[in-house]
Amino acid sequence: MINGLLIFALAIFVVIYWRWQALQNWLWNKKYKNAVLNSQQKEILLRCMPIYKKMTDNDRAKLERHIIWFLSEKRFLGRDGLKLTPAMKLIVAADACVLVLNKPWPLYKNVKEILLYPSAYYAPQSTRDSAGLVSYHNAVRLGESWPGGTLVLSWHDVLEGNRLPSDGHNLVFHEFAHQLDQETGKTTGTPLLKTPNAYKEWARVFSRAFVQLKSHVAYNMPHVIHSYGATNEAEFFAVLTETFLEKPAQLRQHDPEIYRMLVDYYQFDPIVWH
Ligand SMILES: [Zn+2]
Repeated sequence: MINGLLIFALAIFVVIYWRWQALQNWLWNKKYKNAVLNSQQKEILLRCMPIYKKMTDNDRAKLERHIIWFLSEKRFLGRDGLKLTPAMKLIVAADACVLVLNKPWPLYKNVKEILLYPSAYYAPQSTRDSAGLVSYHNAVRLGESWPGGTLVLSWHDVLEGNRLPSDGHNLVFHEFAHQLDQETGKTTGTPLLKTPNAYKEWARVFSRAFVQLKSHVAYNMPHVIHSYGATNEAEFFAVLTETFLEKPAQLRQHDPEIYRMLVDYYQFDPIVWH
């Protein structure tokens, strides 16, 4: 009898463990079924977020549902005395959710918390010189994305990213693109893809574009993707994401192959929002 009960309990545990994500999504769908942004929140986004303004009604509805989910499931903390307001959280959540507009919950599975500083901040950094000597100093930062699931953002630069929607810079897009990259467990510039063939294709197109940017930067030739993308593959993916969202027409004209690859990965075409 006891053995039978144990086997039954074990079977229930295995089923719950195996179907946990489906069960959680079902609960979330129930919880957020009728949740909508209120008129004040919509007004803030219309005022501060140009992409939101230009979205189709269908995309906007998807984004709003994601925002509500994100605000409930992720933790926000103010740093250096910054008092967080609902509007600050709303704008960060909205920018972050654009990247995963067509992805299922849980969005940014590894992200637990977002720390907001009033503006650029100092963070400890170590550098090694050519002789192998390590020195420690404080470096000025606008944002960081930690593999453990913490993002750090300068609020001033979050606002700037939205104020100038076509300059190729958006701090939230940049740091959350790093999180998508880190979902693989490494930070290599290659996010999670669906098939082995997709990885092969990504490696070919991505490497070709990365090498091209590095040589354009080295020879002072014009480049659509910001030179910071030439730092390494991880930064290239983050900067490429900013360019894709903020200068889609220029990127498509400059490199249609990588543009198509990003449309496939992100599952939307940002040209319609510009
Ligand atoms: Zn970066």
